[in-house]
Amino acid sequence: MINISSPAECCGCKTCVGVCPMNCIEMVEGTLGHLYPKVDLSKCSDCGLCESVCPMTGDISERANRQRFFAAFSVNPEMRKNGSSGGIFGTISEYLTDNGYRVYAAAFDKDLNLVTTCAESKDGLSCLFKSKYLICDNQDKFEEMKTRLQNGDKVFYCSSPCLVAAFKKFLGKEYDNLITADFICHGVPSLRFFKECMEFDRKKRYGGKKVLEYSFRVKKKNGATPHYFSVLLENGKRKTGYYFDSTFYAAFQKYISLRESCYECRFAKRNRVSDITLGDFHSVENYLSGINRFDGISSVIINTQKGQKIWDACNPMLSFFELDIEKLIADKVLFSGATGRPKETDGFIEVYEKDGVEGVYRKYLKSAFYLKNSFYYSLPSPVRRMIKNVKGLK
Ligand SMILES: Cc1cc2nc3c(=O)[nH]c(=O)nc-3n(C[C@H](O)[C@H](O)[C@H](O)COP(=O)(O)OP(=O)(O)OC[C@H]3O[C@@H](n4cnc5c(N)ncnc54)[C@H](O)[C@@H]3O)c2cc1C
Ligand code: SF4
Ligand code: SF4
Ligand code: SF4
Repeated sequence: MINISSPAECCGCKTCVGVCPMNCIEMVEGTLGHLYPKVDLSKCSDCGLCESVCPMTGDISERANRQRFFAAFSVNPEMRKNGSSGGIFGTISEYLTDNGYRVYAAAFDKDLNLVTTCAESKDGLSCLFKSKYLICDNQDKFEEMKTRLQNGDKVFYCSSPCLVAAFKKFLGKEYDNLITADFICHGVPSLRFFKECMEFDRKKRYGGKKVLEYSFRVKKKNGATPHYFSVLLENGKRKTGYYFDSTFYAAFQKYISLRESCYECRFAKRNRVSDITLGDFHSVENYLSGINRFDGISSVIINTQKGQKIWDACNPMLSFFELDIEKLIADKVLFSGATGRPKETDGFIEVYEKDGVEGVYRKYLKSAFYLKNSFYYSLPSPVRRMIKNVKGLK
């Protein structure tokens, strides 16, 4: 039976809940609204199924193939704009839907819950594009994908490494008709924290108007940061801003609201769970000239033969450059380990438990740092570059 002795031992995938034949596991809230399983011992038959699917135990299988690294972006400007970085997920998923695959990835529903969602065709893909920086709920999609795979249907699943690992354990065997992609992941806050921040911003920043849609990683022409957001309010107005003008995004960028499992992530390493791994390539200028990283450029790591086949097929839709993966690892650009737990995290949790979002906003998120950054980002880029060189800013 699942037995979590520390919050870092659970990534919140809920796979144990779904497989329990006695329906005796429920998810309950811990700190910062993160969910953890709780077993009703009076009903448990000690069958061990929950443990067998948990992605947080056992080895992560070694990849026999030589991994390859590409810096890449879509040659379709619209696709590139609609991705968080280079629009690689969109490019691959369009190719796969054209070739009979169902695409499962993360989308917001109408109530701003982040859920694994299926695109049956190309038309359904756009809601899956872009990173959403919070935990994604799989609901009953693992079961649905498994049934499809068993029926011989083709499935492409893209998610965080822990959720892909959970799905693979849930399946219990390899399927030729399954392709998986994960991303270089530094962690996720909870849905409750996200919703509370939306409510806080409704009152504080949006004159009481509810947030109907929220987008991370919005690209702005001549943008000075990869982290702009946009909201659609109930009065039909759309607002775009720097991440530090969104309470949730500001906390995320400080790495202060993440799950404890993210600070000790067992998947933040070279050994990947998926066929293809996607990420940003913020330091591209150190390796390739003439590319503006704010237009969007991805890191793409091909982990398996299956991944290589899809990559080759997508090549005509991409601009790409192969780089030496060993050098990137040596330079600590890739796979440099789990996110460090900021020293303010305990204080942040304490204030949040006592005074909620209002409290953490006042103490941690409304700081001079953000005001300074706001000023910094309003400067023309040559001036920013000069300051950056002198001050060592990011
Ligand atoms: C929580 C999170 C943390 C990340 N941290 C890093 C990082 O530290 N370093 C780095 O290089 N890259 C990170 N990324 C990846 C990066 O943001 C881009 O997603 C990646 O560069 C691919 O960009 P793209 O333009 O090809 O695809 P995109 O259009 O951005 O597609 C991203 C894919 O991920 C899925 N997805 C989005 N959010 C979630 C979620 N919360 N859970 C599960 N699936 C999701 C989408 O549905 C889509 O399939 C992170 C992504 C997420 C979601
Ligand atoms: S051991 Fe079996 S019955 Fe008990 S909680 Fe786990 S899955 Fe459910
Ligand atoms: S990681 Fe997933 S399967 Fe394991 S205990 Fe947590 S919710 Fe259950
Ligand atoms: S950092 Fe690790 S544990 Fe956290 S969401 Fe990402 S893959 Fe899962």
